Amino acid sequence: MAAVCAPRMCFARSEYGARALQPLDTSPKLAQDSEIGAKAQVTPLPSPIVHEPRGPLPVLLSVPHSGRDYPDWLIDDAAAGRPALALLEDPLVDRLVWRALKRGCGAVIARTPRAAIDCNRAEDDIDPSVVDGARGGRVTARARGGLGIVPSRTQQHGYLWRRPITPLQLVDRLDQAHRPYHGAIDEQIGLLLDRFGCALLIDCHSMPPPPGATPPIVFGDCLGRTADAWVSREAAEIARSCGFEAALNDPFAGGHVIDRHGCAERNVHAIQLEVDRRFYLDEALREPGPGFDRVAAFIETLAAELGEALLRRQFATAAE
Ligand SMILES: [Zn+2]
Repeated sequence: MAAVCAPRMCFARSEYGARALQPLDTSPKLAQDSEIGAKAQVTPLPSPIVHEPRGPLPVLLSVPHSGRDYPDWLIDDAAAGRPALALLEDPLVDRLVWRALKRGCGAVIARTPRAAIDCNRAEDDIDPSVVDGARGGRVTARARGGLGIVPSRTQQHGYLWRRPITPLQLVDRLDQAHRPYHGAIDEQIGLLLDRFGCALLIDCHSMPPPPGATPPIVFGDCLGRTADAWVSREAAEIARSCGFEAALNDPFAGGHVIDRHGCAERNVHAIQLEVDRRFYLDEALREPGPGFDRVAAFIETLAAELGEALLRRQFATAAE
């Protein structure tokens, strides 16, 4: 079972050279190199697509891993080109949520590829092999495994990059894509709280065919920290009513998105959804397959029924 929620640390350009880029080394030489590196990175990363919630559901979807807008400089930096980077995507999950969007759910959808920066990682979740000068700090198991905030390697292609990035390039990526993503989630949750007094965040992902008896749907709530227990239980029930077996927190307990934004005390419940890619993609696991619409309908049902259940609880509490 993966325990994946991490403590947070914020980096800011204005604090660069002081302490905030810890665990990054901020020697003058590095800063000089960083300026050069930062200038080479000319095309900014795209900010996320934001759909404001409309209609009667207090639901926001997050899709952090389906971005496909690869700037040229990112592909030029990739040792094995774009195909190696594309393997990091959760393919087409941004399209898989279309029915839920049509139903009026809000959504924050990354356009920036996960290969450039992973919005489902904390700012300090850094693999030192991919950011020049990052050493001496905490390195999580995920970063060690190649999947920190800037992914470093995959099983198929090994180390992904021609060279590590500079600390300033990391700050650029945070400013352009990661911070806008989380800022948008904060803003949309604020709108839902103003309107409904509660909010449900569903962070949507897909998983490669898992080994063993892992069911096609895995929910995560960071072992109960990001949502009330009934929310996760009800989510699994809804999956089963749609014909999908579902597990909770095993093998994925949830990542940074739900850890950062879920807060049951504020009536913001956040769960992570993982869908086995074989259930909505073709055999090559790249294009929509025969199950695509069934999974899209399931996500719509999940959002609608869980959102309505949350509202019922909200009204019952208010009436007491
Ligand atoms: Zn994902």
